[in-house]
Amino acid sequence: MVRTLSRYSRLFALALALALAAALPAAARAEALQVFACEPEWAALVKALAPGAQVTAATHARQDPHYIEARPALISALRRARLAVCTGASLEAGWLPMLQQRAGNAAVRDGQPGMFYAARQVELIDQRDRIGFNEGDVHPEGNPHLHLDPDRLAQVARALSQRLAQVDPAGAAGYQERHTAWQAEWARRGADWRQRAAPLKGQRVVAQHSTFAYLWRWLGVRQVADLEPKPGVPPTPAHLQAVLAQVLAQPPIATVHALYQDGRPSAWLAQQLCEGRAPALALPSTVTDDGPASTLEGLFEQDIAALLKAAAPR
Ligand SMILES: [Zn+2]
Repeated sequence: MVRTLSRYSRLFALALALALAAALPAAARAEALQVFACEPEWAALVKALAPGAQVTAATHARQDPHYIEARPALISALRRARLAVCTGASLEAGWLPMLQQRAGNAAVRDGQPGMFYAARQVELIDQRDRIGFNEGDVHPEGNPHLHLDPDRLAQVARALSQRLAQVDPAGAAGYQERHTAWQAEWARRGADWRQRAAPLKGQRVVAQHSTFAYLWRWLGVRQVADLEPKPGVPPTPAHLQAVLAQVLAQPPIATVHALYQDGRPSAWLAQQLCEGRAPALALPSTVTDDGPASTLEGLFEQDIAALLKAAAPR
């Protein structure tokens, strides 16, 4: 009897130990900083600066970040977040306010330290003083696709590391250390990209929307035409004909669209420009779930490599 009891108690102790071991990672997860990122580039940046954080990205590279649905999973992710990292400048105007309202999380309301907008950390290009009634501009506060400028991305990273320390003071020293290392590595890569991308300076591209405008500026590339007739308005056959007429005499090195955009207008134009003189490039405009562009550095590597290939003499 005694022996049976002790065997039971040994079994019980074993079961308890196993249960505790299983529960531990869950407990550790519960303590991790919960971060909600509106776009994949900010999710990637948070992961780089705060590897211990639990990050939920609201959108992926094949989704148009201007328009998404406020799914229940996103509402609950925002509800448990201590920090939300978004672009701002009205990029998410169509969906983030609704998510914030439904999540009912005071920590991530506008104006709170837990709500971080990247566009507030840098100067935006293409700011408009006054929007004409018919201009149809989706970006009145300036171009929000700022993460495709490596220098502005570094400015955002600095501000974000400070914000991480503010909302999670216990990890402050770690965030600072991590950021210092990230910054050094990013500067090294930036210098390398600048050097390798020198042949792109002055090259012409046709692209869709202002998605890559910051990258063009950084590389010295000129976007000579937009496949969109008006910002935010999808390409039309008449507009594409006009673009073709405009660039036919001096073809661009490529026609470019982002992974989330319909590739047909870009492909059509490239084909009209005959003999493959202008390839249609589908470039990631943000960090992808897998593949070579699944990190911020990989994203720039892939885009620059594709453009260099398009610019190379044939
Ligand atoms: Zn846009």
